[in-house]
Amino acid sequence: MNVAAERIERLHELARAAAASGEDDRARYYVRLARRVAERNRLTLPRQFRRFTCDSCDAYLRPGKNARVRLQDGHVVVTCDCGAHARYPYQE
Ligand SMILES: [Zn+2]
Repeated sequence: MNVAAERIERLHELARAAAASGEDDRARYYVRLARRVAERNRLTLPRQFRRFTCDSCDAYLRPGKNARVRLQDGHVVVTCDCGAHARYPYQE
């Protein structure tokens, strides 16, 4: 794994930890940093990262806390508190 990918992993961990302790703004800050690192290095963000972050407001999503997760027509629909929806195929 290269340095940028490691940095993204690290920021993901920090975002998750911040979100878990209710520090949503700090979590969002780490999410944005990780996105920027990925962009600058032309890396694809890990699937786990994409699943648990909001594309609209960069929140780190915690189902049952700041996000709702529903199953619909074979898709997982994640709704962030900001109102943004994300759909993923159920199998993946
Ligand atoms: Zn959002």
